[in-house]
Amino acid sequence: ETHIVGLTGGIGSGKSTVARLFGELGVHWVDADDVARQVVEPGTHALKAITEHFGPEVLQADGSLNRAWLRQRIFEAPGEKEWLEALLHPIIRKELMNQLLYPLSPSPLPPGERGYTTLGANIPSPLAGEGQGEGRKSTYDLPYVLLISPLLLETDQHELVERVVVVDVPESVQLERTMVRDDNSRQQVERIMAAQMARDERCARADAIINNNNPLADVRRQVRECHDRFVQEFVKTPG
Ligand code: ATP
Repeated sequence: ETHIVGLTGGIGSGKSTVARLFGELGVHWVDADDVARQVVEPGTHALKAITEHFGPEVLQADGSLNRAWLRQRIFEAPGEKEWLEALLHPIIRKELMNQLLYPLSPSPLPPGERGYTTLGANIPSPLAGEGQGEGRKSTYDLPYVLLISPLLLETDQHELVERVVVVDVPESVQLERTMVRDDNSRQQVERIMAAQMARDERCARADAIINNNNPLADVRRQVRECHDRFVQEFVKTPG
């Protein structure tokens, strides 16, 4: 059986960077933010339901979701937020599990067109792509996969995982790196950070902490150690 490990951290802490380092070791990972976008792409059941509920104004001219319009609508009518969450929550959860446990090999199509069944598109068997990846170790050789989620601990997504890895940097570094990367103001980033879990609380819930306030070579070493530990632990206790 495949075990699921969660990887989280505050905005700009380095989740994507660390996920890539796990990926170098052949670990399959899925980003919850990517999935949340994929489930409302044109052609999905969810976008159809949303359009039926809110009317065509919820779409942009190209048929994609008008997020700004939807955000405003939800702000004005909080009940609509509940409706939307009730719709999307189970779809995202199911899709996360689907992509975690039935990884398709690297696809020539952009993620949204990969066509997982739960998105309403037609695909062959979930395992159809197995073994076609080039230069990539089969994920089935490893006993665990990674769920990358900024809100792993804030939402019930943590229920999906057996271990929690926290990517940790001091708040000043988080702020600095995010401002540089997104060209955001200090205030914008601080507002987002204030809405997320506090650093010490997050770290207190970690099974493993990756200190990302270090050069990449050192972070790579930490990831390797963490990976070796999980492989050992999960092989010892078959799920
Ligand atoms: P978000 O939650 O906003 O998606 P994230 O947690 O995925 O962010 P990254 O995008 O991986 O964070 O990293 C944030 C920024 O910091 C990026 O510009 C990245 O290149 C840089 N960065 C990440 N790790 C390091 C490091 N060890 N040393 C220097 N820069 C780093």
